[in-house]
Amino acid sequence: MDCRDIQKMFIPFINEELSIKDLGKFLEHIDRCRDCREEYDIYYTMIMGMRYLESENNKTEFKINSEQKLREAEEHILKHKLFQIGKVVLLIIICVAVIIVL
Ligand SMILES: [Zn+2]
Repeated sequence: MDCRDIQKMFIPFINEELSIKDLGKFLEHIDRCRDCREEYDIYYTMIMGMRYLESENNKTEFKINSEQKLREAEEHILKHKLFQIGKVVLLIIICVAVIIVL
C-alpha cells in the first residue's frame, strides 16, 4: 500500500468507516511515514474544523485531536485482537470440554 492509498483513507478513517484490516494498515503506515502523518494532521484539523462550524453540537468531538484519534484507533485494534484471541480460547475450552464429556 502506498501513500496515495493511505491518503484516500483519511476521510473513512476520520468517519470510522475503515475495516479492521484497513485500519491496521493505515495506522502502520501513518506510524512510519512522516508525509502521510503530516497530511493526516492537516486533514483531520480541517475536517473537524469544518464540522465544528457546521454544527453546534459537535463541540465535544472537536476536542479530540488527531493524535488522540490515532491512539483510539490503536486501542480499538488491540481490543479487536484480544477479542479474536478470546474467541479462539473459548473454542479450545469447548473442544476440550466435549472431549472430556465424550
Ligand atoms: Zn505515506
